[in-house]
Amino acid sequence: MKYYIGFDLGGTKVVAAVITEKFEIITRVKEKSGAQRGADSVYKVICDVIKEATKESKIDFKDVLAIGGCAPGLVCPKTGVIFNTPNLGFKDYPLKANLERDFKVPAVIENDVNAGLYGELKFGAAKGMQNVLALSPGTGIGGGIVIDGKLYRGQKGGAAEFGHIIVQPDGPLCGCGQRGCLEAISSRTAISMQLNSFSIRGAIPIVAEHANGNLKKIKSGLIAKAYNSGNDIVQEIVDHAANYLGIGMASLVNCFNPQAIILGGGLIEALPEPFLKISSKKMADSAMGGMGREVKVLEAALGDDAVFMGAAQSAKDLVDSKK
Ligand SMILES: [Zn+2]
Repeated sequence: MKYYIGFDLGGTKVVAAVITEKFEIITRVKEKSGAQRGADSVYKVICDVIKEATKESKIDFKDVLAIGGCAPGLVCPKTGVIFNTPNLGFKDYPLKANLERDFKVPAVIENDVNAGLYGELKFGAAKGMQNVLALSPGTGIGGGIVIDGKLYRGQKGGAAEFGHIIVQPDGPLCGCGQRGCLEAISSRTAISMQLNSFSIRGAIPIVAEHANGNLKKIKSGLIAKAYNSGNDIVQEIVDHAANYLGIGMASLVNCFNPQAIILGGGLIEALPEPFLKISSKKMADSAMGGMGREVKVLEAALGDDAVFMGAAQSAKDLVDSKK
């Protein structure tokens, strides 16, 4: 039996999994990424989780065909260089080359949202589809594009930055420096900021009680709890964000004419209904010529596994391309 290793490098943790040739998951190993200690330290954690996952699986590393990993931010699709991920300390970091040097197997590095979409395409909600987009509203809003069954990464890996579609030219300031980007209105961060400001003013007791003015404590679970408690202000804020997500989705439908849009991430998992309902209705009503009515809006099916599964599939593609 031969194996692939998939890993998912995130801002707070690294997960590595050993996966069989038939894409059954044998083990998952998780460790804190320790981002504050810088790129070399994060790289060491990646190596450690890969070794630990191999050990726990009781497999011989010589049976590993390739490593597929991913990182947040811009990743060069050809060289596997991570251009810039400020929260992990990577800058022009040759992650693929370092892994190939240290593990002596081919490696491939994807952007994390791309890898997640690829996982959903091969094994999850979009299985068997050909033209699919992904959107995941979290800290920002990540995106992914599959055209004719293949990931579209762009010239420098920067395709599908859907969070920075401008939907409201005079809208709130975005981290990228522009105003009115989709993620400045519809990301979990944007929702949390508004909930925080109303909770400080005493309008959302359930948020005030759990977060006490601390924005970082307003996570997806608390947003869902507050929404489901029936608080009108929370519902107005979340529904407004979902509506704008639908406006962004309509533009994407006009550009790509996809079969489906996969919505993923913690916020969607905690609160699927307003996003699936309100966003998809707005998209269906707004896209040109009724095109949106044929687009399926689906919730991601694989959760966190999608990312390392998709990265491992990219590793398999690399191995297959050399046959
Ligand atoms: Zn922006």
